[in-house]
Parts: sequence; structure tokens; C-alpha cells
Amino acid sequence: MSELKDFKCPNCGGRLEFDTRTQKLKCPYCDGSFDPEVFDEGSNYTVSSDKWEDDNIVVYTCESCGGTIMADKDTAASSCPYCGNPVVMVSNVSGIYKPKKVIPFLLDKKQAKERYREFLRGKTLLPAKFRSEATIDEIKGIYVPYWLFGGKANARMWFDATRVRHWNEGDYMCTETSYYKLFRSGAVRFANVPVDASSKIDDLLTESIEPFDLDQAKDFSENYLPGYFADRYDISAEESRQKANSRIANSTSSLFSSTTGMYDTCVPSSSTISISQGTQDYVMYPVWLLNVDYDGKIYTFAMNGQTGKFVGDLPSDNKKLVSIMASVFLGVTALMTAVQYILYLMR
Ligand SMILES: [Zn+2]
Ligand SMILES: [Zn+2]
Repeated sequence: MSELKDFKCPNCGGRLEFDTRTQKLKCPYCDGSFDPEVFDEGSNYTVSSDKWEDDNIVVYTCESCGGTIMADKDTAASSCPYCGNPVVMVSNVSGIYKPKKVIPFLLDKKQAKERYREFLRGKTLLPAKFRSEATIDEIKGIYVPYWLFGGKANARMWFDATRVRHWNEGDYMCTETSYYKLFRSGAVRFANVPVDASSKIDDLLTESIEPFDLDQAKDFSENYLPGYFADRYDISAEESRQKANSRIANSTSSLFSSTTGMYDTCVPSSSTISISQGTQDYVMYPVWLLNVDYDGKIYTFAMNGQTGKFVGDLPSDNKKLVSIMASVFLGVTALMTAVQYILYLMR
């Protein structure tokens, strides 16, 4: 047995979804609008749920239409494939799985499609066929679980640096190289370093759409979820902390490197960075995922559902690359010829 929650309009029984424009739960039938921070009329109901095959799939029954909802065991929000009724899997957003904060979606599906088209614009290496034939196979808004870590990095770094000076003395050209040993030490505090807590989404995508603005986050409520998908974390905080620590160490190291000033060369020779454990929070961040089908291959794009930052890999047309290189080369040659011609005229 398992608990589902659905979101019925108190006025007409219609299906409520979270609306990005008004930031309210909205009923498309009677235009009713409800504040997600106080709305508590969604109905929790217990449904029979069966584990299926390898225990990773859970089967629920939709209360609205009796249809079967099959979901991954980590799914926290989904919808009935038959009637579209949005449901929240209560046990995956409560207890140890309850996020502290959620950043609600600010951008909707239409805006995600627009950003995708903008993203393609100006990509000169994109095969022409991609524009005409690639189709958006799937587009969905997902609340991605993240761990946020805080901590303090104590660092000591040594650098080998040189300064080089040239001057002329009579017939001689002199070079003087001065060698320096630099030392930097200090502490840096970090807050809310994000680590994607879901193994289902490519970390490269989720890191590329950062940053999210945590100032706009709300205290978590499942009322932000209807109409979207959500996953609970399946990577533990302990595992994620190592990743956060390596991000903290990298940032600290580049911060210290940026203070070494004006040397002709400067390379870190050794360093010790120790990170003391700080805060740890669990949150959900809004992400649009687009799967695009082209030439038998799926290309995945991601958009930050709060800021609109858009990322993804596109196929590139090698013939176009060659022709661009060729035209650059011809352009340079033409320019050189023109310069030579002008020099010739000036003689
Ligand atoms: Zn209604
Ligand atoms: Zn249904």
C-alpha cells in the first residue's frame, strides 16, 4: 500500500496544476487560483501499489480513472498516462525524503521551446537537415533533487614564479630571470554548493545550467509539484559530499591562484587544502529536459527552469566546418594581397 496525493479544484473538482506565470495552483476549468503556500485541500488517498519485476518499478492505480500508473521507485511526482491527473507519491517527499526548500518553475513549456529555437539560431555549424527534420520527441519539467553543502576550506599553497626582464647593452641583448617562491594561506567559507542527487540525469547537464538563485526558494510543499515530474534523491549525502568537496577545493585553488599578481610565469608547486564539514540541505530545483530525435539518435538538452540558461550538444556539419575554414583562409589571403598591393602603391 502506498499513498498518493492528487490536486482537485475545491470549486469544480477540476485538475489543478502549478502555473509559472501566477506562481499559483490553477484550475483550467473554472479559472480558480490557489496559493500553494496555504492550499491544503489536495486529497491524500491510499492506493494499492505493487512492486514489479526487479523492485525498481512501482505500480499505482489512478483514483480518477482507475488507470495504471507505473513509476520508478524514486519517482516523487508524475501524472496518469491515461487521464493526465497529476499525482505526488507522498512517501517520496516526506520523512527522510522531504526537501527543505524548492525553487518553483518560473518558465513554462512554451518558453522552453522558444529557448530551444533561440539556441539553434546562429549555430552556423548545425547541419541544415537538423533544423528541418529534428523533432522534439519529449519535453518535461522535472524537479531535480540536489544536495547543498556548506563548508570552510583552510588552504596553504606554494607557487613557483618568474619575472623576466630584457634590455640592450651595446651589442648585447640581456635577459634577466628572477625566481620567486610564493606562499598563500587563508580560509574560505562556502555556502550552498550544489550537487545533483539523482543518478538519472547527466551531471554535466545539471552542472552546466547552474547557478540557481536560492533566494527565490520556498519552503518545500508538494503543492509546487502538480503538472511536473520529480525524483527523490538516489545518491546519498555522504557520496555527494565528496563531489562538493572537490568543487570547493578547485574553487579555493583557483581563487588563491588569482591572487598571485603579475609574474611572467606562475605555477602551483604544492598545496594542502582541508575542508571542514558545514551545513547540508536537501532541495529541489526546476529543470526542463528536451529530447530531440535526429537521424536515429536522441540529443538531450536542459534548461534552468528558473533562469532560462539553456545547454546541450548539437551535431556539427563537418563539410560546413571545412567550407568556413576555407572561406576564412581565402579572406585572409585576399586581405594579405590587398595589403601587399597597398604597400606596392605606397613605394
Ligand atoms: Zn475549478
Ligand atoms: Zn487516470
